Amino acid sequence: MSYAPVEIPELYRELILDHSRNPRHFGRLDDATHVADGINPLCGDKLRLYLRVDGRGSIAASSFEGSGCAISVASASLLTDAVIGVPVETADRWAGEVTSRLRENAANSTLDAGLEALAALDGVREFPGRIKCAILAWQALNAAVNKNASPACTE
Ligand code: ZN
Repeated sequence: MSYAPVEIPELYRELILDHSRNPRHFGRLDDATHVADGINPLCGDKLRLYLRVDGRGSIAASSFEGSGCAISVASASLLTDAVIGVPVETADRWAGEVTSRLRENAANSTLDAGLEALAALDGVREFPGRIKCAILAWQALNAAVNKNASPACTE
């Protein structure tokens, strides 16, 4: 795993570094019901996102594997932390909300309860080249939930 230096507000640097160095839920999920790949060619980030959706339509487990920069790994780690226990429709909505929040500089948009930790990624918006790193996992989440056959690509 490689780390590219990114200038982000001190407040959140520690949380992002922690998640990038010690990603939560890292590894293959053998009994996954939903799987999607995400690719960010600009940075070289690649990940595979796994979800296990239970009979009631809730995400019972989630994990990811792959390699990428600190931002992409931290974002995927935050994602897997956030979506476990959440209805799959909510996760799908979150994928759209987080993506537009990061892309559109919607600094004042309110994050759902359960997504507060994602505020740690807001600093990335100051660095347009890194936004795709941050949204990659969320595009993969959208692809997984909608069972898209082709990998989610940031380009
Ligand atoms: Zn990256």
